[in-house]
Amino acid sequence: MAGRDRTGPDTDPPSIPGSLWRTHQSLEREAWAAALSDQLAGASPDRVIGFAHDTLFPGRLALVSSFGAESAALLAFAADVDRSLPVVFLDTHKLFDETLAYRDRIVDLLGLTDVRVIHPKPEDLAADDPDGTLHERRPDLCCHIRKTLPLVRALKGFDAWLTGRKQYQSTVRARLPRVEIQDGRVKINPLANWNAEDVRAEMDRRGLPPHPLVAKGYPSIGCAPCTSRVEDGEDLRAGRWRGQEKTECGIHLGADGRWVRSGGAD
Ligand code: SF4
Repeated sequence: MAGRDRTGPDTDPPSIPGSLWRTHQSLEREAWAAALSDQLAGASPDRVIGFAHDTLFPGRLALVSSFGAESAALLAFAADVDRSLPVVFLDTHKLFDETLAYRDRIVDLLGLTDVRVIHPKPEDLAADDPDGTLHERRPDLCCHIRKTLPLVRALKGFDAWLTGRKQYQSTVRARLPRVEIQDGRVKINPLANWNAEDVRAEMDRRGLPPHPLVAKGYPSIGCAPCTSRVEDGEDLRAGRWRGQEKTECGIHLGADGRWVRSGGAD
């Protein structure tokens, strides 16, 4: 397992000034996030996570993971920093069985000790999706009750969360910053400037297994009814909600439904 002094595929800056955090109170939060994003632009993922964990948000940082195609790399960096870092996993009751099995395998391999499996509320499902077909009729509402609301509940008590999103994954994520603000909470994307080859190399270096569906043509993996295979030359996320305008599940949108800072949809 790699140590925390590892440098990633990019170059670490000489230092990350803690003074940026001390100015937090006096700057607009989005300006603060933009400044921090610029400051962290050249930092390796382990350095970003370590800084967030140790300096910015001690005891108030979580990681949200889908245990999807590329999740293991971010989880491994986080485990280097702290194996007891809270990891939130949204089990929508619509996931592939392979994802649940892969989650258990990766948790075991990395020694993660605080994985929080979050479900939708039974009363929400009973009210809006009693027969489990809401995703066919109103996918945004389905994501809202199966992902967004459970995540909001899970992140209470945390000031910041780590995501594994990357700029290369889709055109809508092309301007993804390292740090952003969503609904008053800080969202950190340590792998924002990584590409598929970086992730693959990191997983190989660590001996981490790929998600079993990757070899079957699924480079991005969400709920089973809303994920299809991707053809050569397509966006990696082209198989998500195929044939619909929907491109994101809602957990990365602000409360007003707008893409936050990075996507250009606003
Ligand atoms: S991805 Fe599909 S099944 Fe999963 S919560 Fe969203 S609409 Fe529902």
